[in-house]
Amino acid sequence: MKTKLLYIAQNTIEGNIIKDELNERNIACYITGSSLQAGIGELPIDAMFSKVYVKEEDFESAKVFIKEYKVNQKLDKPGNWICDFCKENSPNYITSCWNCSKEKGINLNS
Ligand SMILES: [Zn+2]
Repeated sequence: MKTKLLYIAQNTIEGNIIKDELNERNIACYITGSSLQAGIGELPIDAMFSKVYVKEEDFESAKVFIKEYKVNQKLDKPGNWICDFCKENSPNYITSCWNCSKEKGINLNS
């Protein structure tokens, strides 16, 4: 099976967000680089990034998603929100938790 490099995520969290979003669209993907955090000083810089690969046949539709994803990233405010359920930090440009998939809480004052 042939795979193609789709996207280089800034970190493991972003890599997992991309993975979840692609899975929702029935696109299988593979992430490399996510378990290289230990001994980072000896590794080249790009080992900190998560590389997202998809099957060659899914590449075009995955590319469409990445384009949308990048647009949303620019439109939304930077920063993070904390999930009410699992207390994980998610970036503001996604609306459901990357970890447990719960929707972002609407009532931010509680
Ligand atoms: Zn959560």
